[in-house]
Amino acid sequence: MDPWKDIGHSTRQELQELQNRKLHHFINRHLYPFSPHYQELFKKNNIDPRSIKTVADLKRIPFTSKKDFIDPDHPHKSIDFILQPDADKIKKHWPLPELLKLKALGLINGPDEVKDRLAREYRPIFITFTTGTTDKPLSYLYSKYDIDNLYVSGSRMLELFNIKNTEYIVNLFPFAPHLAFWQVVYGGLSSCALILSTGGGKSTGTDGNISAILKMKPSVVLGVPSYVYHVLRQAKEQGHKMESVKKVVLGAARVSSAFKLKLEELLASMGATDVSVFGTYGFTEARCAWAECPSSNNMSSGYHLYPDKEIFEIIDPQTGEVKGEGEDGEIVYTSIDSRGSSVIRYRTGDFAKGGITWAPCPHCKRTVPRLSSDITRISDVKDVHISKVKGSLVNFSNFSVCLSEFKEIEEWQIELCKKDNDPYEVDELIVYLTCKDSVNRSTLTETVKQRLLNMTEISPNQVVYIPIEEMVKRLELETANKEKRIIDKRPKV
Ligand SMILES: [Zn+2]
Repeated sequence: MDPWKDIGHSTRQELQELQNRKLHHFINRHLYPFSPHYQELFKKNNIDPRSIKTVADLKRIPFTSKKDFIDPDHPHKSIDFILQPDADKIKKHWPLPELLKLKALGLINGPDEVKDRLAREYRPIFITFTTGTTDKPLSYLYSKYDIDNLYVSGSRMLELFNIKNTEYIVNLFPFAPHLAFWQVVYGGLSSCALILSTGGGKSTGTDGNISAILKMKPSVVLGVPSYVYHVLRQAKEQGHKMESVKKVVLGAARVSSAFKLKLEELLASMGATDVSVFGTYGFTEARCAWAECPSSNNMSSGYHLYPDKEIFEIIDPQTGEVKGEGEDGEIVYTSIDSRGSSVIRYRTGDFAKGGITWAPCPHCKRTVPRLSSDITRISDVKDVHISKVKGSLVNFSNFSVCLSEFKEIEEWQIELCKKDNDPYEVDELIVYLTCKDSVNRSTLTETVKQRLLNMTEISPNQVVYIPIEEMVKRLELETANKEKRIIDKRPKV
């Protein structure tokens, strides 16, 4: 089976016609009839679902965002996003030929067969949660139909990475009801490749993960960037070789070219040559992930999208205006082939520099649209990623980009506190660093201060060097699902 069959090499016109057809069908047959949230939204805004015929019509539909899931008067608001068909709704909204098909199925195989078919398509059977650091986790439900889609996206990703079913894979993502872990599991299953999921540091410990890799000798290692790096660095320190590794696939966090090169260099020092490092992008609301295809590690092919499953728009985050091809803006997602929890025009809060291109991929020649991998969070002020420090608004993504690019720095953490721990005193920002012994620390301190000042307009009060063991504890690298890169110790007043 070719998971990219039909869409990998279609023309742009064919793909856009497919999207128009699927959008119209999805809204009229599934979303409007069965989603309490969207039926109300369409009615409130006087939108006739039949009038949504092309991607260009989408802009008449208001955006959806995380806020729509959180209503203090309605604690179970997320249920309204689940498609909930019943006999009356089906009779009212489905066209006669489809109703006759259902009737025929019932007559031939009995009424249970009809119920069973509808249950397999619509009944929620699986859940993953969002992993917001500040917001309450939100649940997203999958039906069997959505699980089948998770297989499709998983096998498309493995195909992009050129992973053959004879290769061995070690999955270091933490066991959790989160998309990244399950996307990898379903990807492995659908591609019929042998995959070992260790559960990450929390389940088997870093030594357990190292020995799993040493025993299994996989060509593919997958996981969260910081944890994969930690495991490999630790293995190197223990004197191990990792010659078998050819591909590293990273997820659940942004991956810069500098980080890919750093990982490639680390693996090269352990005997692994020609290693390709891949970034992926996914979010709970889409219930799937997208990936880069092979290129050299100092560039990105962009994430290859699935035009038969979704529509992406890039918008101006201030005005909501839809941007043109290749322009920067916020990523907005619309599902055109899902059941369970379904969203359209969903504002992700992610900002893509370079937006989306429809040009065929120069590396793998596929013609699907590609999303720029230069993605940062644009969150509101309450989010931990943007905060007022020393009176000015700071985007912490910039700290991350800046510090991850230093080859000399092994690990880093930022701590925000108040001077003398006095809530009324000024803010202080401390940078904790772990670096190799050979590095000249006073030179590094000066360069770090200068580059941070240039990129974030904030210079740290202190740069403190700590040993790796202490850093691993501070970051909770081995215990948390996501490392604690930025900690805000300022008392709330
Ligand atoms: Zn490609």
